[in-house]
Amino acid sequence: MKIANHGGRAVIVDGDTILDIATASDGRFGPDPQSVLEQWEAFCAAARSLSGSVEPLDESRLGNPVGVPRQVFAIGLNYRTHAEESGMQVPSVPATFTKFPASLSGPFDDIEIVGEAVDWEVELVVVIGRRADRVAHADAWSYVAGLTVGQDISDRTLQFAAGMQFSLGKSRRGYGPMGPWLVTIDEVDNPDDLGLGCSVDGVVKQDARTSDLIFSVPQIIAELSSVLPLLPGDVIFTGTPAGVGMARDPKEALRAGQVVETWVEGIGHIRNRCV
Ligand code: ZN
Repeated sequence: MKIANHGGRAVIVDGDTILDIATASDGRFGPDPQSVLEQWEAFCAAARSLSGSVEPLDESRLGNPVGVPRQVFAIGLNYRTHAEESGMQVPSVPATFTKFPASLSGPFDDIEIVGEAVDWEVELVVVIGRRADRVAHADAWSYVAGLTVGQDISDRTLQFAAGMQFSLGKSRRGYGPMGPWLVTIDEVDNPDDLGLGCSVDGVVKQDARTSDLIFSVPQIIAELSSVLPLLPGDVIFTGTPAGVGMARDPKEALRAGQVVETWVEGIGHIRNRCV
């Protein structure tokens, strides 16, 4: 099942049509995407029997598929290749920061370029479907509602200012494009081994597989939930592989007029114009 945010309302996507969840469920679920995730298990049980009139999918109306989550976790240096290109040690526990929720944006939204060091980071994004507190590694996937594509757009100048402030440098408005939809795990062949990448103006900059993650999705969920509960609708950016602009020689950065395309195998593509 694919769930999208179409004009602020949670919808089920089927090919190029959508079914409005709130209308089809007589108001039991939705319309806010977070409220669907809050009742995720009940929604999944009811979803098959939902029916109603479908509408055409309008790409320009797609927003961040999860709305405004309560918590957003992001993992740094989670691919060996990226840790090496950054000249940083491979961490022994997930290097965790946040993207503040108000920075998240839609799959086809513009990225406002501020300064000379705005960078790309393709990431697999995990969305939590039920409260996860002290979860065992072996059970972790069962707490996941689905997967989506994310860009952890980073203002390197702000990120490394004042010592280090990863969370702020990755939270300028619109610096978290996500989507185009949330895909449930049952639709993905092997959620632990997905190709992902991104290109800038058609030139591929990153190309890797999630099987190369240092901390896998189950490990991240087990580690984070040993510290605090993960809540339904929460988002985890799982880290980026090699190929970011900052680590290139010479360094590269996004400029107004460029187009960033980002994909995860089996999930979809997002596309963002730099302005
Ligand atoms: Zn990142």
